[in-house]
Amino acid sequence: MAMLARLSGVSKTFANGTLALRGLDLTIGDGEFLTLLGPSGCGKSTALRLLAGLMPPSEGTVRWQAGAAREIGFVFQDPTLMPWASVFDNVWLPLRLRNQSRKAAAKEIEQALALVGLADVAHVYPRELSGGMKMRASIARALVTHPPLLLLDEPFAALDEITRFKLNNDLLRLKTELGTTVVFVTHSVFESVYLSSRIAVFSARPGRVIAEIDIPEPLPRDESFRLSPAYAEHCRIASQALQRAMPDQAA
Ligand code: ADP
Ligand code: MG
Repeated sequence: MAMLARLSGVSKTFANGTLALRGLDLTIGDGEFLTLLGPSGCGKSTALRLLAGLMPPSEGTVRWQAGAAREIGFVFQDPTLMPWASVFDNVWLPLRLRNQSRKAAAKEIEQALALVGLADVAHVYPRELSGGMKMRASIARALVTHPPLLLLDEPFAALDEITRFKLNNDLLRLKTELGTTVVFVTHSVFESVYLSSRIAVFSARPGRVIAEIDIPEPLPRDESFRLSPAYAEHCRIASQALQRAMPDQAA
């Protein structure tokens, strides 16, 4: 698989002295669904922000494939919608920042909303939406510029399980339809196996990749995959890797 971006020998020390990452090597393949799986506080969000260029590494490099459009959609755990703006205007934001008028952007916005199943609530305000719908709006906002790379940082962690399963399926469908490369962060073994073509398991802080697990199961995946022996076996392997990632602790 062609490489899209690569983090090599990356360390990150924050101003307060916290060493979040040390010796992180991670290649993002063009077109893959890569999940960063690791214990809370191990540096997953930090790795995502370095990849997005939101901050520089302290050591090491973040490289992109020559000629790759470094355009990124970023979805945070908190949907971070503007409460005073309609769903439509929230999704307009990235285009507005590129000086596109509301009218000029309307078609793109409507398409992005249709992709996530929110066409009917374009003129509703965020407070009127369920948690799952807020997250859909946040994903539409990230996709409205057609980024080749979509980064999602524990986007479904706050949702109930039924809603999470539904959004998992919708995300896989979007990924397949759009051909977007996805880097997804979670601490859920089950979610990582369901979604990914590859899982990078992080050690406890300072984070680095301690195992890479391929999930070569075809798309689309659905509830029958969740119930399959292959799914259970991948979960077992990912769980064991995650166990090794945890610091020794008393039972
Ligand atoms: P994860 O996303 O895996 O839970 P993070 O990347 O958010 O982990 O954080 C890794 C470590 O770095 C944690 O110990 C966290 O408290 C610390 N950290 C994150 N951001 C900052 C910051 N801006 N300043 C200082 N410490 C930070
Ligand atoms: Mg995080």
